[in-house]
Amino acid sequence: MDGLMMKGPLTIPAILRRAETVFGHKTIVTRRPDRSLHRYTYADLGQRARRLAVALAGLGVGPGDRVATLGWNHHQHLEAYFGVPMAGAVLHTLNLRLHADELAYIVNHAGDRVVLVDQDLLPLFQQIRADVNPKHVVIVEADSPPPDDMLEYEALLEAADPAAFTPLVTDEHQAASMCYTTGTTGRPKGVLYSHRAIFLHSLASLAIDTLGISESDVALPVVPMFHANAWGIPYSAAMAGATQVLPGPYLDPASLLELVQNERVTVALGVPTVWLALLQTLDTHRDDWDVSSVRMLLVGGSAAPASMIQAFEERHGLTVVHAWGMTETSPLGTVAHVPSELALAPAEQRLAVRAKQGRPAPCIEIRARGADGFVPWDGRSLGELEVRGPWVAADYFNHAGEGHAFTDDGWFRTGDIVTIDDHGYIEIHDRAKDLIKSGGEWISSVAIENALMGHPDIVEAAVIAVPHPKWVERPLAVVVARPGRTPSSEDLRAHLAARFERWMIPDAFEFLHELPRTGTGKFLKSALRARFKDYTFPDQEAW
Ligand code: ADP
Repeated sequence: MDGLMMKGPLTIPAILRRAETVFGHKTIVTRRPDRSLHRYTYADLGQRARRLAVALAGLGVGPGDRVATLGWNHHQHLEAYFGVPMAGAVLHTLNLRLHADELAYIVNHAGDRVVLVDQDLLPLFQQIRADVNPKHVVIVEADSPPPDDMLEYEALLEAADPAAFTPLVTDEHQAASMCYTTGTTGRPKGVLYSHRAIFLHSLASLAIDTLGISESDVALPVVPMFHANAWGIPYSAAMAGATQVLPGPYLDPASLLELVQNERVTVALGVPTVWLALLQTLDTHRDDWDVSSVRMLLVGGSAAPASMIQAFEERHGLTVVHAWGMTETSPLGTVAHVPSELALAPAEQRLAVRAKQGRPAPCIEIRARGADGFVPWDGRSLGELEVRGPWVAADYFNHAGEGHAFTDDGWFRTGDIVTIDDHGYIEIHDRAKDLIKSGGEWISSVAIENALMGHPDIVEAAVIAVPHPKWVERPLAVVVARPGRTPSSEDLRAHLAARFERWMIPDAFEFLHELPRTGTGKFLKSALRARFKDYTFPDQEAW
């Protein structure tokens, strides 16, 4: 027997309807390329998103067509987040930090029909212009008339009649947007989000035990809108009626801190490298900014060192919340809040939990598979994390041969090697391909990196496996020292010796000025592995 409840589809237009009607007066702030601040409301957003949908239809964009963006976080990008899916089309966010060849591959693989390009990213787009074939290129924030073969965003919107908008989205399972995974795991793969997945993901992000996004929040997504939908904030903030602060192209610590102070930001979200840089700035210019409005810095994308979480709290009174997710999981997967049983536990114990990646969000199920089947939830047994849920990818877009990413019973294989404890907290020990196997024993690069980044003289650390004649692989640590500091390998070895078995400690430490990064700001270990593949450890002969 069917229940007797309404069957309204869970769609992006439904999120916008709520934002416009209930929170029409709430603000969206954007830092423009000239550094000035642009402000408008959810009511304005709704009008312009409808104009965009009408304009796209006028350009021949139909249901299922892909419309790409190559842009920073700004209000026009937000309009595309709503306007493109409302046109029945699929928003495809392009990663502006990718190499031109990879970008061209992705545009072609997705079959993008229209591309919206920020004026200041036009030189990047021109590098791939001859290799891609969109029907229309539209310039956003044009500061001069666009080239003859391109259109101008404002002119396009002005010419569109919002009253001519026809609602096209009736099925919540329809595709709404897509995002390609970046280069850390080989060829980029397209993840195709449905309206329903985005709606449910937004709803879950409002839960207090996940991100708790609420009407009173002022959200600053430092995470780019091309990285897993800026972790869903454009949609969840709209659903909650939260103010959004979009930093445009200015992601340096001083620019971010200025926004935090002046806009009274309550939640800011980004990868650890962003917060490590911000921490350094706060440490040296402690009194320059008022950050008292912040209730949470959300960190994810790669492991947040416990030392960083502690430093923000102790030195600046800022709460860092650690979360895990993937492009394939929309991305909200797990969030590490301290459980009620530990509310009064010693700080050290609470920190240990907060440094884990956390418990699954509602609707997300987890399990981990080892060589002999599923591992127990004992906080010790390592296995590959598998997840399922209504906002987890069930397949990749037009990508034959990726079947191994999904189990026969329909779970997604994350490639992350984890433990799960008896309270359901996962702890990521490595990505499967980053694990180091020395003399038959696994070494967790993440654990050593985090410990190294806890050394007062070290800012960044990546630990990679290097081939070794006797042990098959041994760890090499590649580190960046704090400016003006010159720690020795012996210092670092002694620092690690307090926490790790001798055989786990890297055999050598290489000092660089900076670590290579992926398009989403993570340390690019594949580049380090390539660079050090013929590395000879100084005392290799002694082994
Ligand atoms: P890419 O695959 O290009 O790195 P994603 O952003 O989808 O892009 O990356 C997802 C991966 O990032 C996860 O599989 C995991 O390895 C890593 N990751 C995400 N969050 C965390 C975290 N909090 N701690 C450790 N690793 C994380």
